[in-house]
Amino acid sequence: MTLASSSPSPSAPRRRLAVYCGANDRVGAKYKEAAYAFGAAMAARDIGVVYGGCSTGLMGAVANGCLHAGGEVIGVLPDVLGEREPGHPGLSQLLRVPDMHTRKAVMTAFASAFVALPGGYGTLDELFEALTWRMIGTHAHPIALYDVDGYWSHLVQFIDKATSEQLVTQAARDYFFVDDDTGRLLDRLFPIPMPR
Ligand code: AMP
Repeated sequence: MTLASSSPSPSAPRRRLAVYCGANDRVGAKYKEAAYAFGAAMAARDIGVVYGGCSTGLMGAVANGCLHAGGEVIGVLPDVLGEREPGHPGLSQLLRVPDMHTRKAVMTAFASAFVALPGGYGTLDELFEALTWRMIGTHAHPIALYDVDGYWSHLVQFIDKATSEQLVTQAARDYFFVDDDTGRLLDRLFPIPMPR
């Protein structure tokens, strides 16, 4: 892994959320706007973005939303993607890693929670790896689905079906929650500590 930029330090203790979402630039404006606003809401709560590092689609939108609001964005970009997913040039930090597996491992190490915004196969792979890694105890991070315009409803229906058929345990079903409200979702992932 190499660091393309050195500031701020990735080891500084702070709240960071791994954001998984689509890279396709042709996605509709409602999704891009929601992703941009999600990034801005993270910056407002001083929660850093850890994401795949590219500049396109919802990935680029969430990074821009956070950066434009003064937040920290760390990108983790695999070399295997080459020119297919261009690295975002304005990130707080861009980490280059050799492959997809290292990307997911690094994102898991840097973040203390996961969220999936709308996305395709890559996002689904990342979401299910976060869920299965939680199942085997690789991490204990909370996992959320940000439901833009009902995007996740069919997937949740399917997982509920798998749960009712005893193929997913209720405990594993409860690893994730779904919310369509950015502020409520972020407050649930990062509860504000009670004053002493
Ligand atoms: P998508 O949701 O398909 O637009 O992809 C979102 C991100 O996931 C992109 O950066 C993809 O390169 C990435 N991705 C695709 N497949 C994988 C994988 N097996 N592991 C990790 N990331 C992946």
